[in-house]
Amino acid sequence: MDGELLARYEAIVGTDVIDQLKQLAHHLQAARVVHVNSTRYGGGVAEILHSMVPLMQALGLNVRWEVISGEEDFFKVTKSIHNALQGHPVEFTEASVRVYEENNRREYEKLKEILEEADFVFIHDPQPAFLITLCPQRKGKWVWRCHIDLSRPYRPVWRYLRNIVSNYDASIFSMPDFTQPLPHPQYIIPPSIDPLTEKNMELPSDEVEGVFERFNLDANKPLVLQISRFDRFKDPLGVIRAGLMAMKFIPFQLVYAGGGAADDPEGEIIYHEVLAAAKDHPDIHILYLPPEAHRTVNALQRAADVVLQKSIREGFGLTVTEALWKGKPVIGGDTGGIRIQVVNHHTGFLVHTPEGAALRIRYLLFYKEKRLEMGRKAHQFVKENFLITRHLRDYLSLMLALISGNGERIEVEARS
Ligand code: UDP
Repeated sequence: MDGELLARYEAIVGTDVIDQLKQLAHHLQAARVVHVNSTRYGGGVAEILHSMVPLMQALGLNVRWEVISGEEDFFKVTKSIHNALQGHPVEFTEASVRVYEENNRREYEKLKEILEEADFVFIHDPQPAFLITLCPQRKGKWVWRCHIDLSRPYRPVWRYLRNIVSNYDASIFSMPDFTQPLPHPQYIIPPSIDPLTEKNMELPSDEVEGVFERFNLDANKPLVLQISRFDRFKDPLGVIRAGLMAMKFIPFQLVYAGGGAADDPEGEIIYHEVLAAAKDHPDIHILYLPPEAHRTVNALQRAADVVLQKSIREGFGLTVTEALWKGKPVIGGDTGGIRIQVVNHHTGFLVHTPEGAALRIRYLLFYKEKRLEMGRKAHQFVKENFLITRHLRDYLSLMLALISGNGERIEVEARS
């Protein structure tokens, strides 16, 4: 076991949590585990695997992370599958099916032995899902890990994929709302954040305070922040409206920081709409961030007094997790995964309108003690529910459940 890595997490989550992971992993020593996805960098899935794989290895499992590659036509097809699964009608022809399956066949030849011999195979999202149908000699348990909201899929594409996915021994979804009926056990495992990454680690106080000067902000005025792509579902115009309303009653500055306009023509339009709505107001700051500005996002979240995530539609909402972890109460739209993170009146407030958000901004800025208390609860709530260690515990428990069936009991106790 890699004691050093585990010790770094132990310093944050405590001995009991790490002990429990060790006890679960004890039953899985040297188990051959393979994760397969389609990108090493970029996006939430890769981000989680970068943390998850070394942690599993540190606990004594024999883990590999394989990335399937493909030509442009393959990723075009998988992008359309992705969009279809999120509810958008797409053109899905026999040619698309051929491109998808042929690519999986080619990749299978490279991974054949590893996949046949593995005790557990986690296939992430639709891109490599077809691999299972090519591996009749498989020895291990295969799990389809779906990170997508499948609640309203475009049926023709889902019908095709469901046939493939039905071959798996189990599937994992991030939230109950995201699931579809499937003929095998389904597990709900929400995403998580890693407290050791640049996005979430503790920062020196001068780096946090540095954001005021860096972005031309007033260090003596409260800071209300939303970090989001320029996307309608994040309701940036609602954020500006809420800010303008609340500013009539209490002084503060509002920062909307995000990126995403470069490769997204709609993002650019929205960015300009937001600038127009802010009308050069001296207390409203629209920041355009590059995609790798993890430390800057971290510093802004730590510098904020209150964080908004006023989405009108949301997947899980990692920005909420990140802000709660930094001890900030979050005023969030009552939708998607925000609902399971913002416990109304405890870790933040759920709102439905800009008016509602404005009211809660005023409340939280006015009542400092309440704000700090909610922030403490918020941090604790993430510590217990949405860190990578909980995510890993769920994976290990699932693996044990898959191999022990109904028969065997696995005892796990806290030692202290
Ligand atoms: N993010 C970022 N820069 C930005 C906007 C967002 O680094 O300009 C990060 C944010 O910190 C979070 C992720 O991108 O880790 C967004 O995930 P979330 O689930 O909140 O929303 P999504 O953009 O996936 O809909």
